[in-house]
Amino acid sequence: MRVPRLPMAVTLAGALLVTAGCATHPVTGRSQLMIMPEGQANQMAYQAYSQMTEQKPTLPASHPASQRVQRITQRIVPQAIRVYPQAGGWQWESRVFRDDSVNAFAMAGGKVGINTGMLDKIQPSDDELAQVIAHEVAHALSGHTREKMSMAMTQQMGLSVASALGGLDGRTAAMAQQVATVAVDLPFSRRMELEADEVGLLLAARAGYDPHAAVSLWQKMQARGGGGGPEWLSTHPNSSNRIQALERAIPSVMPEYRRATGR
Ligand SMILES: [Zn+2]
Repeated sequence: MRVPRLPMAVTLAGALLVTAGCATHPVTGRSQLMIMPEGQANQMAYQAYSQMTEQKPTLPASHPASQRVQRITQRIVPQAIRVYPQAGGWQWESRVFRDDSVNAFAMAGGKVGINTGMLDKIQPSDDELAQVIAHEVAHALSGHTREKMSMAMTQQMGLSVASALGGLDGRTAAMAQQVATVAVDLPFSRRMELEADEVGLLLAARAGYDPHAAVSLWQKMQARGGGGGPEWLSTHPNSSNRIQALERAIPSVMPEYRRATGR
């Protein structure tokens, strides 16, 4: 990688920070570093998702499991758009991947994936499956992946400036570039997880799914823990803290759930 001369690196960093810079989380109000523009992150996600659907087998759209996931996702999406109107322009799509590992994801731009392993091994009720989908959708609308990429980009720019100043070798500079790529695969931070739990609980409640299912879902996950346990747990470190935080948050979203269901 060519190491930019100092003035160029500084100008680039400055321009990116000024044009994109910080964002405020639409639900929690947390201030977030967002250098990576949303349109660009979505394009990358669309490309990655279409590659995935070519490489990994998926259930046909007419399969009952696909229809179930789609039905639940379609109830969650309007609630996501309600808190984050930009998501109304996303190319929302959900698919069930034939994969034994207990996992699920939602990419930037509204691409949702549920593994058959999640359905077969956890046997979630609709309320529980809604919590999985709402949690993942919450990561997407919170821009958590973009935030990780932005943090990695800042580190990379910091290193570019440092290498121009101090003459770090080319290998260090090349390593810095990889950071931005690797950031996407890193697990979300604990703070992002708690945020996705909080926002997911709200989205699911407003869509008419019982908030108590968030707790029973994590209990089921935990029961399958240990060696060969749910892969979802490797990117979503579980703890009794998490369940306790969810339990504490339930009363605040119960009015939303009652309003949605008329109960
Ligand atoms: Zn998560």
